[in-house]
Amino acid sequence: MGEAAVPFASSADLAEKDETFEVLADGVYALTAEGDPNVGAVEGEDFVVCFEARATPLMASKWLERLREHTDKPVRFLVLSHYHAVRTLGASAFGAETVIAHEQTRRLIIERGLADWESEAGRMPRLFNGADTIPGLTWPTVTFSEELTIELGGGRGRLVLGHHGRGHTAGDIVAWLPEQRILFAGDLVEARAALYTGDAFHRHWAGPTLSAVEALGAEILIGGRGDVAHGADAVGAAIDQTRSFLHVLMREVDEAATHGGGLKEAYEAAHAALEPRYGDWPIFEHCLPFNVSRYWDERSGLDWPRVWTAERDREVWAELKG
Ligand SMILES: [Zn+2]
Repeated sequence: MGEAAVPFASSADLAEKDETFEVLADGVYALTAEGDPNVGAVEGEDFVVCFEARATPLMASKWLERLREHTDKPVRFLVLSHYHAVRTLGASAFGAETVIAHEQTRRLIIERGLADWESEAGRMPRLFNGADTIPGLTWPTVTFSEELTIELGGGRGRLVLGHHGRGHTAGDIVAWLPEQRILFAGDLVEARAALYTGDAFHRHWAGPTLSAVEALGAEILIGGRGDVAHGADAVGAAIDQTRSFLHVLMREVDEAATHGGGLKEAYEAAHAALEPRYGDWPIFEHCLPFNVSRYWDERSGLDWPRVWTAERDREVWAELKG
């Protein structure tokens, strides 16, 4: 069985992605990579704020090399949108004075940071190029619960870090430039990339959290994965796709459960309903077993997501994809 089975998660996805560096406004940058995790940066008067850290210091240093073609200001703040290893473990490369995250992100790193590191390295080995350069878990030095504003200085306006409720994780934050109407949304919004919901709060995410993100009125949105959305229509489309993915997933799993089906039947129903629209998008097949497993728990009343370990990853994969 083992040899012929579907390759685990993204373990067989080893081809390098093309990276696209974009200047979104004066001093506002994003690097996207065909569905790999996106990163960004915002210049202040005499410092830089970086958004997301990538999986390893080596991967982070490649992003910083691109950024250094545009600015040599020191990185004063590194903002982590949430706790996932592919977005946090490269932090040491930035030499940031301050590492900012939501207070629930700190809690999650304490509770499951090591397990998540092992799990994600197994699921997405390509993103962990230079894994031996990771010095350990990344610890935020400043956390907040609702909002934290960074004054950029020099007429550059302000960067508002906001938590809009539970979503992709318990502690997602977005980075919002109200003057430029540019939003770094983290994994709360994906632009033509499949959602990962294995640690999510589906109902809240699809409801009040996405509504609050939408209400910001962004005109440029950098999602967690996928291309930058330029213009209100493209931003709206990315948010709609995200919401629709969640609704279809919930509906199919709810229906399967109501009709007496088990986890495997729920997975198959969700797969059949989502595949026509989302099947070609990056990480769709990789994520769906973990997504259905988490929503199955959530609808059964398990509020706090179970910890993914490398071992549990393989068990769920074998059960649903075997
Ligand atoms: Zn994530």
